[in-house]
Amino acid sequence: MYETVIGLEIHAQLLTATKMFCGCATTSQAAPNSLTCPVCLGLPGALPVLNARAVELGVTAALALGCRVQPVSTFARKNYFYPDLPKGYQITQFDRPLALDGELAWTTGAGTQRVRIVRLHLEEDAGKSVHEGFEDSDQFTYLDFNRSGVPLAEIVTAPDMRSAGEAADFFRRLRAVLVAAGVSDGNMEQGSLRCDANVSVRQVGDPSLGVKTEVKNLNSFRFLQRALDFEVDRQVTALARGEALEPGTRLWDERSGRTVQMRSKEEAHDYRYFPEPDLPLLRVEAAQVERLRGALPELPEARCLRIAERYGLDRDAATFLAQSDSLTAFFERTVAASVDPLAVLHWIRGELTRRLAETSIGLEQAAITPDSLSALIVLVAQGRLSATAAKQVFAQLFASGGSPERIARTAGLLQESDLDTLRGLVERTLAQLPDQVAQFRSGRRSVAGFLVGQVIKASQGRANPQVVDRLVRELLDRSGHAT
Ligand code: ADP
Ligand code: ZN
Ligand code: MG
Repeated sequence: MYETVIGLEIHAQLLTATKMFCGCATTSQAAPNSLTCPVCLGLPGALPVLNARAVELGVTAALALGCRVQPVSTFARKNYFYPDLPKGYQITQFDRPLALDGELAWTTGAGTQRVRIVRLHLEEDAGKSVHEGFEDSDQFTYLDFNRSGVPLAEIVTAPDMRSAGEAADFFRRLRAVLVAAGVSDGNMEQGSLRCDANVSVRQVGDPSLGVKTEVKNLNSFRFLQRALDFEVDRQVTALARGEALEPGTRLWDERSGRTVQMRSKEEAHDYRYFPEPDLPLLRVEAAQVERLRGALPELPEARCLRIAERYGLDRDAATFLAQSDSLTAFFERTVAASVDPLAVLHWIRGELTRRLAETSIGLEQAAITPDSLSALIVLVAQGRLSATAAKQVFAQLFASGGSPERIARTAGLLQESDLDTLRGLVERTLAQLPDQVAQFRSGRRSVAGFLVGQVIKASQGRANPQVVDRLVRELLDRSGHAT
């Protein structure tokens, strides 16, 4: 029996307006090489100046992950040759990173899951090699340096995950924390969040770690999970055949659904790290750390626990509602109008989610408001609107807003549920149908359905069917006993 061991290294682009060491903009939609200067092109003599905002965001990310922020950290040069790295080295943090020893924990059905964060450090991104899309792409590789020097936080976990699914789950939760903390946009398609997955297997019970491989640059949860599943399978199969595993760096090939070797241990880079002489020590004052800690917003796990507790919902529902600020706020404002949280959850999870997906607009752009949704829920609770009619009203609220009562009235959807009004109607209707009433009394209970239909017809469809049904049976039983 083998056990899987996984540790992740995540790169998150920090949400700054400008790059890490120069004033160039970080926008993603710009003509190739239009966001460059001597610093991020690595021209001789150009000197880096650290972006204070990148440090703030790095510290915020570290605090959101429960890390200890170091009062002093340093920058280093990581040397390697690659065309998208114009200086011939990347400025990163090596032996003295910005922050250490954090944790991301969350509650599952099985208990609390913890993944330790070993370190979080700052570094700059490289440029981009463009291998496709040009007439002569078969002969040339083009380079775009717009990303060169964009600030990243690298987050390294301990080897604490035990399956591909667990790793994907962690990555999802980490993304949610970074987005909630406002440090990253979490956009994986555009490369602002990606991960390297380290994986090994070992015999269950073996305390030592097995030979690991590293799968580079996974930019979707699905790829991460598929690449890890494949890699675990490959390693276990090799071990079962008595083969020795070779450590190395691999790439996920989505087309073939396999990982392929990129370089072996022997070919591993020697980065010849050394201190960056052009940058001073990075000092972060304790007061600044405390100021940033105080400014942290409510994070996903805390929010989830609060929602579950406060509204009496299960974890699954709370997780759903905690997924974004706008969704949580919409839910809480709707419930604040004193309607049943479960009813609100039902509408948000059902109709609202469906229509948002259909129209692909954000909740902020939708015309429906918490007040109008709560008013709709009240109409249903009062029995003045049937579930089916309420969906019709909802559709209109979603598209153009307004008052649910007015919409329902205009569309002739309001039901009569007032007991006295309906009792009068039932009495009058039954008085006109003595034969059917007699049939009921002589044992044909099924006639009740017909009588209910007649009452609703007499109300021109306005009467609440459940209430009418109850009243008809009450009255028939009573008159039955009376004879
Ligand atoms: P390296 O020296 O190869 O850079 P590190 O010790 O710095 O390795 O760890 C890098 C990442 O790999 C971390 O996320 C760590 O948790 C993970 N890791 C280390 N050893 C293993 C292993 N045997 N199996 C799975 N993951 C591992
Ligand atoms: Zn620049
Ligand atoms: Mg390492």
